[in-house]
Amino acid sequence: MSNKATGAPLHNPVPIGNVANPHFAVLPDPQTLFGIRAARLRQLAAEHQLGPYLNFLAGIAEAQHRLREGLPEPEVPPPDARERARQFNMPPIDRTRFVAEPAFDATLDRLLDFVADIEMPAQARAALEQVKQADPAARDEMMRAVLADAIPVETLAHHVFVAAALQVHMARVAARLDATQLVAVGDALCPGCGSAPVASVVVDWPQAPNTRYCACPLCQTWWHYVRIRCTCCGTTKGIGYKEIENAPNGVQAETCEECHGYVKILNQRKYLQLDPVADDVATMGLDLLVREAGYRRGAINPYLLGY
Ligand SMILES: [Zn+2]
Ligand SMILES: [Zn+2]
Repeated sequence: MSNKATGAPLHNPVPIGNVANPHFAVLPDPQTLFGIRAARLRQLAAEHQLGPYLNFLAGIAEAQHRLREGLPEPEVPPPDARERARQFNMPPIDRTRFVAEPAFDATLDRLLDFVADIEMPAQARAALEQVKQADPAARDEMMRAVLADAIPVETLAHHVFVAAALQVHMARVAARLDATQLVAVGDALCPGCGSAPVASVVVDWPQAPNTRYCACPLCQTWWHYVRIRCTCCGTTKGIGYKEIENAPNGVQAETCEECHGYVKILNQRKYLQLDPVADDVATMGLDLLVREAGYRRGAINPYLLGY
């Protein structure tokens, strides 16, 4: 590499060969991701005081995995809309304008059928029946609430099923995008769909050694985000880390003194099995600790709202 004007070599502090060039966006693989999540949830449930709830979520993840074969092709934003989004640093998937289409309807129908076998409390069972019987307008309303991160507390159980179907559908849409065309959106928002992250994960991939990614709770895209920077407001000042002493798997909360938000950070370098959605639920004790210290949860996870 040389400077065009003078021909002098440019200063390059990183020796060639050690250059980490992490991909900015990593699209989800809907063929495997929910199966992996289900296995992690089962593993967590085995020795956890929230075992029944984690097993319930594992059943949902298994349904998300099983229903994938033979679904209609999802509608993907057309190239001109994607290009426009890119120019304006917007995500190609517009959550606010999403309209149910045959692929989503089929996903939700199948999910509601497949989860019927799961062991669940009577309240969740009643919610499931109500979602099954909901007319299109009521379904649409639930879908909108999930997409707006505005799930009403009284009907959390209903929305868990709708959120699960949206995760599958949006992951299928995201998987059909071109990762190289995605651009940074806002302060740590998903470049695929604009969601705030569910957690961030330190990975140790050959292309991205010891590198942090944020994980999307909706379209399941991961995006590169530098370390020691708030995933709520983007500041690099006043970042701290809190954890429960001797907690298994070393999950920490990354706290921010500027906005008083926090999002959990998972270290897959040390614990490869960590899953952002599953381990977020399994570490809600950490949420209590950090909230008591005066921080606001910045992460989005529809499975954690009722607790
Ligand atoms: Zn997303
Ligand atoms: Zn902040």
